[in-house]
Amino acid sequence: MKPVTVPFFISHQGCPHTCVFCDQRTISGAGGALPAHVEILSKIAAWRSGAGGRPVEVAFFGGSFTALPEMIQDDLLAPLQPLLACGEISSVRLSTRPDCIDPERVLWLKNHGVRTIELGVQSMDDVVLDASGRGHTAAASEAAIRCIKRQGVLAGAQLMPGLPGDTPHSSLMSLERVISAGADFVRIYPTIVIRGTELARRYGAGEYFPLSLEQGVTLCKLLLHRALRAALPVIRIGLQADEGLNADTVLAGCWHPSLGQLVSSGLYGDLVGNYVAEGDSVEVFCHPSRLSDVAGHKRSNLERLAGRGVRIRLATDMTLDKKEIMIKRDNGYFRYNLVNDLKYSINEVYQQCARIH
Ligand code: SF4
Repeated sequence: MKPVTVPFFISHQGCPHTCVFCDQRTISGAGGALPAHVEILSKIAAWRSGAGGRPVEVAFFGGSFTALPEMIQDDLLAPLQPLLACGEISSVRLSTRPDCIDPERVLWLKNHGVRTIELGVQSMDDVVLDASGRGHTAAASEAAIRCIKRQGVLAGAQLMPGLPGDTPHSSLMSLERVISAGADFVRIYPTIVIRGTELARRYGAGEYFPLSLEQGVTLCKLLLHRALRAALPVIRIGLQADEGLNADTVLAGCWHPSLGQLVSSGLYGDLVGNYVAEGDSVEVFCHPSRLSDVAGHKRSNLERLAGRGVRIRLATDMTLDKKEIMIKRDNGYFRYNLVNDLKYSINEVYQQCARIH
């Protein structure tokens, strides 16, 4: 059963770095203070009461947990220990930097209920990491993923396509390298330009050109498809729309409140589009949970196909796999799968993302 996640944002606390894209206070919507015990416990109690019997997981996001002084890490995890012991919460997850991971720390975290560690990998290209002020190397990310896995803890990798110096090739290579290192899942956050950051200064000075929404969706489709082929879960695409991110704070870049749906529905749209011809009038079946993906965000896939003179009637079929569609033609039913029957060429992605810098 998928757990309910109770999030706590630890907003830039403990981080001595200034990555060019980062304004943790804006992203988290928090003012920078660490949550007190009473706040942690009351929020967990409130979320538990609405969990409907699902397991409850506590998450510390936003900053670099393991860069905090040990006393503070201990203080944040301490109120959770009795709840873990009696089963009121099932596990803890946190995010941190790859260069703030070592075997002793991971073991200590594991002994305090941490079951998942997400790493801000961002890129596996040292040129991109350097241009983005990350202060660590790709090798540090590989070592951190392996270290976490060796202790039996799940390792996630956050990737940021479109950082300074990034290309479709280096984004894809970054994904390949986290797959090889054994990451259990990824989050993909295309780079956005947030007011007040170094990236905003570079953008304003004409020194940095972010991915547009369209370019970001194109690149993310390639990455999502590669992850699907590797059976690597992509647990989120795009930052959440919250009070901190809005038309005033996001100056540019690939940002949309439904970015994940734009990308996943783009895959289904491409799959259908590959197997229908101009003037076709066909019935397309999919798993019920994929109906909106096949139709596209605000029915954009259907409209695009209509522009090619293709008429689609959508229907659902519980027996289909979630990654499958079935097209009914005069001569029978034909099944197509997102993983095997859809191909993306990096050259096409380059053409569409020609202005990635
Ligand atoms: S390491 Fe994380 S918290 Fe620190 S500046 Fe970079 S993105 Fe922000």
